[in-house]
Amino acid sequence: MNPILVALDVESADKALALADALRGSVGGFKIGKQLFTAAGPAIVHQLASRGDRVFLDLKFHDIPNTVAGAVQSAVGTGAWMVNVHASGGSAMMKAAAESARKTAAAQGRTRPLVIGVTVLTSMDEAALAEVGVSRPLLEQVVHLAKLARASGLDGVVASPQETPAIRQACGPDFQIVTPGIRPADQQGKDDQARTLTPAEAIAAGASYLVIGRPITGVPNPREAAETIAASL
Ligand code: C5P
Repeated sequence: MNPILVALDVESADKALALADALRGSVGGFKIGKQLFTAAGPAIVHQLASRGDRVFLDLKFHDIPNTVAGAVQSAVGTGAWMVNVHASGGSAMMKAAAESARKTAAAQGRTRPLVIGVTVLTSMDEAALAEVGVSRPLLEQVVHLAKLARASGLDGVVASPQETPAIRQACGPDFQIVTPGIRPADQQGKDDQARTLTPAEAIAAGASYLVIGRPITGVPNPREAAETIAASL
């Protein structure tokens, strides 16, 4: 399938729907994050899902297991295809999330959404990790949390392109690796993404899905940009 997930980082449902309408068929799905979800609510997830779109609901749940299980239950009801939780919430929380996805989907006769873990936010460096009491090297912590996510029944993790090969090696071929920080060759060094790979490089590094925002949503012809990227893979 087309591995491109377009980040709908816009402030209204109207803008999100317009982008999705322009891109449908040229990409693999859409990512709805905290900005759009907080503005437009679960209705926008429902709307896209009911049009047949795959929606990655990127709300990064992190709470006590019972609360995260409830949040995942609600997410399943929106028709989301993929949801995520912070792996640092621990194995009990991740198991509760995976179990809730399975049970709720079965009860509603839906396909179970993929449940993905966030390891270490890519905005954090080793100094920021040390500040919160983690003294391990960053890549070791990322791989540690990816293995914990896998052992807890999660389907995969979100990871930077730099972390992808080590996770792929540690967690095997069936683990889903979702990678942001992607820039086509002619857009390297643009925006605020520091360490980027091209779409083809990220796939070669072992990514399963590519989260791409501004290189598609921030250009005059998003569909053409998406088609060019898809053709490069
Ligand atoms: O516009 P751009 O391609 O940079 O968008 C990337 C998307 O992926 C944004 O929604 C951003 O929040 C998200 N993301 C990221 N880096 C991470 C995790 C998520 O850029 N480590």
